[in-house]
Amino acid sequence: MNDIESELLEIVTQVRKHIEYQKTLGVISIELVPAVTASPTDEADAQSSVNKAQASATKRGNVPITEKPGPCQSAGLTAVREELGNCSRCKLHKGRKTIVFGEGDPNSVLMFVGEGPGYEEDQQGRPFVGAAGQLLTDIIVKGIKLRREDVYICNIVKCRPPNNRNPEPDEIAACEPFLLKQIEAIKPKIIVALGNIAAKTLLKTGEGITLLRGRWQTYHGIPVMPTFHPAYLLRNPKDKALVWEDIKKVIMEMEKIRQG
Ligand code: URA
Repeated sequence: MNDIESELLEIVTQVRKHIEYQKTLGVISIELVPAVTASPTDEADAQSSVNKAQASATKRGNVPITEKPGPCQSAGLTAVREELGNCSRCKLHKGRKTIVFGEGDPNSVLMFVGEGPGYEEDQQGRPFVGAAGQLLTDIIVKGIKLRREDVYICNIVKCRPPNNRNPEPDEIAACEPFLLKQIEAIKPKIIVALGNIAAKTLLKTGEGITLLRGRWQTYHGIPVMPTFHPAYLLRNPKDKALVWEDIKKVIMEMEKIRQG
C-alpha cells in the first residue's frame, strides 16, 4: 500500500469511528456541505484534494449535523447534550479527550449512574466500556436479562478525572444539573446508583455505600437502589453476592412496574 492509500484508509477508519460515535448519540443524518469539486486524475491531485477537504473542514468548524430523535437519542436528550456543548464549566475539561454524555434507550425504565469516565471511556466517548463496564454489562445481560442498549447508562461527571481520582465537589456541582436534566428527559422508573460517589451525590447524604446499599431511596421522586460499583467488585469479588441481592430487588420492582 502506498502513502496516499494508507492515508485514505486512515481517513476512512476515522470517519467510520466518528459515525459510529454519532450513532450512539442518535444522529441519523449528516448534512454534507459541498467542499471539493475537483476530480483528481493523478496522485498529486488526489493529495491536493485531501488537503483542500481538510482545510475546508477546518475553516468551517464542525460539519453541520442534523440531530433528529433516533434510536439512542430523544429530542429532550439532544437538547441537554446541546446545552452541555463543548463544556468547560469545570477544570476536568482540561484533561479530557471526550465528553462521555451517556448512552442507551432514551425512554428506558432503568437507568444506571456511575461515577465518571475512566481511560477507556474517555478514549471512546462511551460510558462503562472498560473492565468495570464489562462487569456492568454482565449484570444487565446475564443478571437482569436485558440488552445493554435497553437501559440508559451515564455518570455523575461527564469528563475523566485525572488518574481516575474521585471527582471533586466543584466538579460534581458543575455537572449535576445536566444529570438531572438527563433524568428529566429519560424519566426512568428506577435508578441504580453505582458506588459511593453516585449514591452520595444523588441522595445528598454522607452515608457510605456499605450502609446505603440494598435499601430503596429516592431522587426527585424516583426510586434509587444504591449498590457497589463494578470496579469495587473487580477488587472484591466476594461482594458480588451482595450486588446480586440488590439487583434482585431491582428486577422485582421492574416486574411490578411491568404488571402496572
Ligand atoms: N467507572 C465509572 O464510574 N463510570 C464509567 O463510565 C467507567 C468506569
